Amino acid sequence: MSGRVSNLETVHPAIRRAVEQVQSDLAAQGLPFALYETFRGRDRQESGKSRGTSKAGMWESYHNYGTAVDFVGRTPSGQWSWDQSLPWTRLGEIYERAGLGWGGRWKGFVDLVHGQLSRAYSWQELRNGAVADPLLARNGGATAAEWGAWMRWFWPQAPELHHAMIAQLQRSTGLASNNPEELIQAGERVIGGGNLALRSSFPSTKVMVLAGAGVLLLTSLGFVVWRLRRGRTT
Ligand SMILES: [Zn+2]
Repeated sequence: MSGRVSNLETVHPAIRRAVEQVQSDLAAQGLPFALYETFRGRDRQESGKSRGTSKAGMWESYHNYGTAVDFVGRTPSGQWSWDQSLPWTRLGEIYERAGLGWGGRWKGFVDLVHGQLSRAYSWQELRNGAVADPLLARNGGATAAEWGAWMRWFWPQAPELHHAMIAQLQRSTGLASNNPEELIQAGERVIGGGNLALRSSFPSTKVMVLAGAGVLLLTSLGFVVWRLRRGRTT
């Protein structure tokens, strides 16, 4: 993948809800910014570094994990614009309200267009496997289907991360498999259905409330029957 990519399907499910929120806030406020770049592959990352448009090498930018986006100015005639007079601060406010970090706050290399997964995870942690942690996606409001589709797309983009992602998936799912598809399916179950092992060994609140109500009902019935019988014999 060498050119510029700009579509929500390549955005990591951990920030996809937030990016959708940014899009709807921009539209609601009538601000002239549009989604310019999402995932960034090796060729584009390395050419960006040599041109000086990015300071990061491959796997050193959140874009390489789908966990960053760039919104750029859009003129009425449909041209992209980085003009300083655009309301970048309002774009930054919208990023931050959606829970994303904003590159406009960086010291030194200020990146007004850039929003990313908040610093709860560093790119080093993502590279060490956290990018494949189903809980990261679940915390961002992702569905199991969104996460599974993204993982199956990302897997062949990231051969260098396979070892770390397999280890992460084994930790997150408890499944001792080296098969990526089996691990992704187990991850989908973690997002979609909670932890099945925990659920079977410990009754859910709903089950306990129903059982309690049943006991109460049977006790009252027994008391009524006892009273009726007592009434008849005296
Ligand atoms: Zn960026």
